[in-house]
Amino acid sequence: MQNPIARFAPQLTGEYPNQFMDLFNNLNIHEKEDPERIKKMLWGAYSFGSHYHEHQQRQSGRPYFEHCLAVGKILAGWNMDHVTVIGGLLHDTVEDTEVTLPMLEEKFGDDIARLVDGVTKLGDIKFSSRKAKQTGNIMKMLLSVAKDLRVIIIKFADRLHNMKTIRHLSPVKQRRIAIETRDVYSPLAHRLGMATVKWELDDLVFSTLNPAMFKEIDANLKSTFKQRNRYIKEFSKPIKDELAIHGITAKIYGRPKSHSSIYQKMIKRGKEFEEIFDIVAIRIVVDTADQCYLAMGIVHQMFVPIPERFKDFVASPKMNAYQSIHTTVVGPRGRKVEIQIRTHQMEQTAEIGVAAHWRYKEGGQYKAEIDSHMRWLRELVDILQGESSDPSEFMHLLKIDMFNDVIFVLTPAGDLIQLPAGSTPIDFAFQVHTEVGLHCMGAKVNKAIAPLNTKLKNGDAVEIITSQNQTPHYGWLRFAVTSKARNNINRHLRKIRYSESLKLGGEILEKTLRRLKQYELVKQINESYRKLGYKSKNDLHVAIGDGTIMIRDILKKLFPAEVEQISDKVEKIHADDSFINLARGAAKGVKLQGISNLMVTFGKCCSPIPGDELVGFVTRGRGITLHRADCASLPLLDEDSDRIIPVDWDVGKNETFNVKIKVVSQDRSGILKEISEAISSEEVNISSVDLQTRDNIVTAYFVVQVRDIKQLERVKRRISKIKGIDYTERTVRD
Ligand code: MN
Repeated sequence: MQNPIARFAPQLTGEYPNQFMDLFNNLNIHEKEDPERIKKMLWGAYSFGSHYHEHQQRQSGRPYFEHCLAVGKILAGWNMDHVTVIGGLLHDTVEDTEVTLPMLEEKFGDDIARLVDGVTKLGDIKFSSRKAKQTGNIMKMLLSVAKDLRVIIIKFADRLHNMKTIRHLSPVKQRRIAIETRDVYSPLAHRLGMATVKWELDDLVFSTLNPAMFKEIDANLKSTFKQRNRYIKEFSKPIKDELAIHGITAKIYGRPKSHSSIYQKMIKRGKEFEEIFDIVAIRIVVDTADQCYLAMGIVHQMFVPIPERFKDFVASPKMNAYQSIHTTVVGPRGRKVEIQIRTHQMEQTAEIGVAAHWRYKEGGQYKAEIDSHMRWLRELVDILQGESSDPSEFMHLLKIDMFNDVIFVLTPAGDLIQLPAGSTPIDFAFQVHTEVGLHCMGAKVNKAIAPLNTKLKNGDAVEIITSQNQTPHYGWLRFAVTSKARNNINRHLRKIRYSESLKLGGEILEKTLRRLKQYELVKQINESYRKLGYKSKNDLHVAIGDGTIMIRDILKKLFPAEVEQISDKVEKIHADDSFINLARGAAKGVKLQGISNLMVTFGKCCSPIPGDELVGFVTRGRGITLHRADCASLPLLDEDSDRIIPVDWDVGKNETFNVKIKVVSQDRSGILKEISEAISSEEVNISSVDLQTRDNIVTAYFVVQVRDIKQLERVKRRISKIKGIDYTERTVRD
């Protein structure tokens, strides 16, 4: 580099670093694109990435950015579009540097930011080998977290390079990563039709996990290489000549077999090296599908085919899009030759599978993202359909991808939890462990404290804060979605309700009889639970406590004669058994789901009336205060959401509720009278009026007694029609 400016701003002088030019020259740019524009973009990413990764090193001691560059080069080698390549260059910036998503978004746009975000999220997932057995599940999760197949492709490039440089890691880490690659990435590569990637990964895994055997096979492959190569040439020459006579230019070459596939064959078929190495594999690549069949005919004319080894994946491609004709013939000196015949395009697809859709051959169309998104989804579903033997599993899968009814979230350890869409941290907690759910106190979503009713999203990392003193609350039922959570909460609440009713029932029995001056009957009643139809004394008390059975009825049944004498007293006590009602918390106008033994009062801050959405707030020691759901004085849900309980209105016909309305109007004579008449005309009583006049403007506060929100609305509408009224509103101001 002669020009010093080039060191800092090569885009000005055109003197870019060699490594950058390497990458750029590898980039397959579509003819419709402007190479200079893409070069600028690529340089932007290159300089950005190398700047932020500066001073970072890999375990090997090499600069960190070399890894990012290698990932970019792998992607370029797969002919991915420049967006994906740039995503590869930047894939570790958010995870490992101070770069944030908004920074990427601003500098490189949504598309690239989303790719990096996806790769970052996948990076948080740790696959335990136990779960790895359910490849289908992991597939679903990867897709739903990744949202974009390109994220997975970048992840594969990342994994491939990490595997290539794995020797620099500690033996323990090497093993863990190799096993994860074997159990997760390799099967996925297969399903996605990424044959070359799978091949490379398998061999890297093999050499990591079984280096001795790998070396042995390697040595054998090398020592037989020359001999085998000579044989391939001898075999191919006449075929090539014959094809040329028919006007077909074919590429014929010996197909290398992976070390791991050789080893698999040795194990599966119990064969020795010699037998396996004796088989030669070649590939014939031609231009068109027709030529594939022509070439096949020529080969079969020249050499005897083994019929049962013939397969036509050109006419009926594999579900992972793989296409090829497979045939095995008997070659010179009786050696078996495995032959694959395919076109150049099939060759590319076999290399990278479904990812081939992001190649530049798609031209300007890759921006039609929705269309391609749907297409790959359909194709993936096809792939999975082909591999899944269980149709119901497939339908489920289809449903998940199409209707998005399932999300995957992560535990702090990186394990995956599958939940129905709309699930909250409560659901997550019970899914992790019943004990975690029962003592769930709060949650962190993506490391930030979040309300327990937060709806979780795909890829969220969730951490549950527990406390031994915490127990489930009725409020949880408002946002628990999974049956596991709901069942557990309900079971726990039933238990609590049972013990509360039990205590209350005993008290009601004793107090009532004491007031009737019949206290001595308590013992007999307690012993007569069977006659009353209960299995135990406790069950009887619970029934009394929750109001299933009245003391009056018990007395009538057990002591009809005695009750006759004191019947007046009994009826009277039940007529005004306010203390029982109070004890049961049967507050006027509301019904509490499941809670019948707490004190209930209306919040003065918001004066709820029927029609308002109600919530009950459990005040320790003072029972429950009812508020409008949107009351400003309610504590923030995230702090105390466990103390918010669902409440329903349950009003009698003639009950009324006080509500305050504010009316602002011009000051003119008779205005107050007109407003009062308007209110009365809706058969609404006025409890109080408060007036202020200033600068010819009247502000009036009316406390009125309404049945419900509808009646209040009618009142407001009527007032607004009065001449000179500025506005009228419900208010909570004192
Ligand atoms: Mn990486």
